[in-house]
Amino acid sequence: MKTYQQEAVLLDLVQARLRQEGVDAITARAVAASMVGAERDGTLSHGLHRLDACISSVRSGWVVGDAPMQVQDLAASLVRVEAARGFAQGALARARDLVVRKARETGMCTLAISNSHHIGCLWHDVEQFAQAGFVCFAFVHSRSRVVGPGARSRVLGTNPMAFGFPRQNGLPVVWDQASSVMAHGEVQLAARHGHALPQGVGVDRNGQPTTDAAEVLNGGALTTFAAHKGFMIALMVEVMAAALTGSPFGFEDASGQIPGAQTSLAGQTLLVIDPLRVPDSDFAARVELLLNALRDAGTDRLPADRRYAARACAQQQGIAIDVKLLDALTLGGTVPPAPKSC
Ligand code: NDP
Repeated sequence: MKTYQQEAVLLDLVQARLRQEGVDAITARAVAASMVGAERDGTLSHGLHRLDACISSVRSGWVVGDAPMQVQDLAASLVRVEAARGFAQGALARARDLVVRKARETGMCTLAISNSHHIGCLWHDVEQFAQAGFVCFAFVHSRSRVVGPGARSRVLGTNPMAFGFPRQNGLPVVWDQASSVMAHGEVQLAARHGHALPQGVGVDRNGQPTTDAAEVLNGGALTTFAAHKGFMIALMVEVMAAALTGSPFGFEDASGQIPGAQTSLAGQTLLVIDPLRVPDSDFAARVELLLNALRDAGTDRLPADRRYAARACAQQQGIAIDVKLLDALTLGGTVPPAPKSC
């Protein structure tokens, strides 16, 4: 059964839950914003069902809730945060103002976050920079979950990448996708609800194609989208997020040996570019021209359109969440009735 809650209420609940587990205030707020934002926008693979995994990883000692993160101002256009095994969202929150200042001053800034745990969707990190007028790329790697074409075992992760840019008329365009055919979180949800996977998503422990989510999760692997092309994107993301930040590769991740650890130690790189620093590019108007051409050619949906529609609906009627999930967040009190769908 579903119930409907306001975003601010859920934010406070999730933040309070993380604070109870010893997560510092800045990080707890940032992780809560990512998870609640995902639930609000219908990116359910990285929504509130991830909270258990976060808490389990903190309790295991694998994630440090109040990690002594260090923001390092390395060069005119380079910032690194040593996240010291804390959550990546907390690292980004601590570095954001410096990154924005440098990107405005120099035209671009690279943010490299090392030794962090990223359990969220990337659009959340990218959209806020695009809202502020920047073109932004983000790369995150995860533990080994993917087999490349012809490979016998997993090396690369589901390695998502996101890209966003501002536009003249409307909210930023932001796309955000895993390098695997399906995000691992969606496979977890399919296993939980007993749903079969579409063909071509994964293989079992013997490397045979399967539509059984449990077989993919228990010793099997996911496949990359578009065969070798997705594999190359996954490889690029691993280099950008792990090698460039000084973080372990997905295949070096030790979380499997730590009881309760459910998140991998990873890196994240963001490239933040100020389009206004390119003289006479007329960026906003040119982008709008391009988007209009796409629309005239029959493209009726841009990436993020679905999310923005889900967000508008949630802002009107509240965020629909499972009652059991809400109970787990210890709301207590009476559950409000479900309003009509918008
Ligand atoms: P999807 O395949 O659901 O969507 C990928 C992108 O394509 C989205 O930007 C989506 O926009 C857009 N899109 C989908 N359909 C269309 C269409 N018909 N026309 C135009 N655009 C379209 O995402 P994934 O399953 O690959 O990833 C889900 C989430 O999982 C992501 O947020 C990703 O960051 C996260 N993830 C996180 C990991 C981590 O380690 N932290 C690991 C792997 C994944 P829209 O959003 O509007 O639907």
